Amino acid sequence: MNRIDFPILGREVYKRPLIYLDNAATTQKPRCVVEAIDEMYYSVNANVHRGVHYLSQRATDLHEGAREKVRAFINARSTAEILFTRGTTESLNLVASSFSEAFLHEGDEVILTVMEHHSDIVPWQLVRDRKGIVIKVIPMDDRGDLDLEAFKSLLTDRTRLVCCCHVSNVLGTINPVKEIGRLAHEAGAYMLVDGAQSVPHFPVDVQDLDCDFLTFSGHKIYGPTGIGVLYGREELLDKMPPYQGGGEMISRVTFEKTTYERLPYKFEAGTPDYVGSYALGVALDYVSSLHDEKSGLRGMELIAAEEAELTRYAMERMREIEGVKFYGESAQKTSVVAFNVFQPDGTLIHPMDLGTLLDRLGIAIRTGHHCAQPLMQRCGVEGMARASFALYNTKDEIDAFIAGLKRVVKMF
Ligand code: PLP
Repeated sequence: MNRIDFPILGREVYKRPLIYLDNAATTQKPRCVVEAIDEMYYSVNANVHRGVHYLSQRATDLHEGAREKVRAFINARSTAEILFTRGTTESLNLVASSFSEAFLHEGDEVILTVMEHHSDIVPWQLVRDRKGIVIKVIPMDDRGDLDLEAFKSLLTDRTRLVCCCHVSNVLGTINPVKEIGRLAHEAGAYMLVDGAQSVPHFPVDVQDLDCDFLTFSGHKIYGPTGIGVLYGREELLDKMPPYQGGGEMISRVTFEKTTYERLPYKFEAGTPDYVGSYALGVALDYVSSLHDEKSGLRGMELIAAEEAELTRYAMERMREIEGVKFYGESAQKTSVVAFNVFQPDGTLIHPMDLGTLLDRLGIAIRTGHHCAQPLMQRCGVEGMARASFALYNTKDEIDAFIAGLKRVVKMF
């Protein structure tokens, strides 16, 4: 689907056609996104918000227009709830830093899951060191589904926040974040959803999820690096102190006292990445504009359906290979396939070796701990190989990946 829109997919590596299966790490960019960045620098560039001149106003319109596109894309109530950040990591750090200042006291509890990315673990450990909070962890079963009964037993009257990835970047599990949020709210806690691996793969509606925070990164949804989003419920953001101080986020400054700008600017100190925000808006327009006449599907619904079929096909074909072990076989799963291959005597073929040899065949997968070391420990391994699919991948590419994998495994 639409491969022609992604010029990089036409290139070769080691004189072989590139087969890019590392989309959970970052996606390739359609021509319109690259051109939007060019256009911004070639003919619009000026700092936003404070300028009276034409270019500044035009750049401001494009930047704020992108904010409205993000709002509509995730169905937030207002653009006041859409904060631009550098990415998911910064969004999570912002919440950890600012939410904890406003709402967390010694002994309060934050619940995470065993499958969180490091960026949703380490910021909370920093808060723990600073404020003496308690971190609890929701366990999972061997298929990669969270244990909701165990979760219920973790909730207490000290629980203030539950943080859960919508989709695991390793297992691909789509977590029941709406249900988890409902239980969190019933217990008087707030709900943060890390949408880094969900927003790029299926429709996400913050009002339907009824979450208090949602984070995602532009570069994982065909947009540029360096731009991301934090959605926050307005009444919460209102009560939270600024994350950083500087220009743009103030209303009035004297040496005695500073008053802050209204939302969302209170959380956006300094010159924002208006080139990135504009290009992210173009990426969101791009995915929304996709449609398939045969199925009648559009936008994110279409992406979800196409990726589900690719994933089903890839896993079916990988089962042909003796010794393949999957990590993450939930019935609710996106296009992330983590695996290892074991030799007949039970010896693990090191995922790094698999990845390196596949690379020489032009096939890009990811190997290692995937920034989820606690999950690796839960699965009893140091690392895994991971193939992850995006809208432009094809069954022919999966066939080439399988042929490559068979060839590499044979070498051991
Ligand atoms: N959360 C999840 C689930 C992720 O997959 C990632 C990146 O892989 C992140 C957070 C961090 O995203 P970024 O590196 O774009 O800040």
